[in-house]
Amino acid sequence: MPSRRPSRKRPWGAQHQPLDMDRALGGVRHESAADGEWTVRRLRGGDKVYVCPACRQDILPGTPHVVAWQRDAVGGEAAGLEDRRHWHSSCWERRGRLR
Ligand SMILES: [Zn+2]
Repeated sequence: MPSRRPSRKRPWGAQHQPLDMDRALGGVRHESAADGEWTVRRLRGGDKVYVCPACRQDILPGTPHVVAWQRDAVGGEAAGLEDRRHWHSSCWERRGRLR
């Protein structure tokens, strides 16, 4: 009689991982600041050079940084998104502490 290993199939639904939206979106969070409501997204690194609005220094390709836009901009979040800025992570955090 051949030996049968127990089925390795799991009952349906077991070990199901919910979609990690945070990871899927690259890590988005909302922040309130003195000048409005912001959406902040962490990026692992861009493929071009951005200029940080805080220190006016380059953010080189491949450098993890954040991109932020205003959700309550005039014209709505779409307008804010249009006007988004790339920041050094440390510069964005410093900005948050100044408010
Ligand atoms: Zn900077």
